[in-house]
Amino acid sequence: MRVLILGGTGEARELAAVLVAAGTDVLSSLAGRVRDPRLPEGPVRIGGFGGADGLAAFLTAEGITAIVDATHPFAGGISANAAAAAGAAGVPLLVLRRPEWDADPAWHAVGDIRAAAAAVRGWPGDEVFLTTGRRDLAAFAGDDAHRFLVRTVDPPDGPVPGRMTLIMDRGPYTVDGETALMREHGIGLLVTKNSGGPMTAAKLQAARDLGVQVVMVQRPALPPGAAAVATVPEAVRWAGRQSG
Ligand code: NAP
Repeated sequence: MRVLILGGTGEARELAAVLVAAGTDVLSSLAGRVRDPRLPEGPVRIGGFGGADGLAAFLTAEGITAIVDATHPFAGGISANAAAAAGAAGVPLLVLRRPEWDADPAWHAVGDIRAAAAAVRGWPGDEVFLTTGRRDLAAFAGDDAHRFLVRTVDPPDGPVPGRMTLIMDRGPYTVDGETALMREHGIGLLVTKNSGGPMTAAKLQAARDLGVQVVMVQRPALPPGAAAVATVPEAVRWAGRQSG
């Protein structure tokens, strides 16, 4: 058995650690987007595969016998490619997707980042905390009516809002820290993707406590028919079943 883990998440690193410790032949894959990524245990390859066809060829060339797509819930492109490539190469695929954050009726849920930018444009307040990632900043670049506190892991390399304060940081965050940050910047609206998980959830509690409004971008759908689990132990059990 040789397992390919499509990574870039804490869950992918946890899964790699468990499988490596169990002596499983594992290869983790990262896109190479982050300058200084947290690396999983065991062998790692970095960079795109060249679409679904490239990934299918990679699976065959590397003798991959099972894939776990443990990428971020908003990395819809690689998930679609993984489903297509797994089907083409006849390799079993599991999607490991952490649960969404529990919906709060006070949130303004939107379908994608463009809808989030439209919701912000219609918001009468001033200070917006934008945590949707550097690659989504372009959608907000034309909005000069608002001030944006933007938090990203690496510096933006595309269009950004004209009135922007940039913080570079990565979680985990605390409710106290998030509360202090939002207070300091007079934030009235938080824009976030429904990534789920504990690493970045503190901002939601802080927003509740401070009466900050929330625009929540909903996740893209899983590839049709995908087998999916929500936790690392379930993925470990699935991988164990693939060896028989
Ligand atoms: P994406 O839009 O779904 O993927 C774009 C392209 O990046 C893919 O077609 C693929 O290139 C390459 N790619 C993505 N993930 C890869 C992986 N694990 N290994 C090798 N190539 C990969 O993905 P994204 O939203 O840019 O996310 C990129 C990575 O960052 C993912 O691994 C994801 O887990 C992580 N991440 C994303 C977010 C987010 O908000 N989107 C947040 C945190 C972490 P080819 O077509 O050339 O194969």
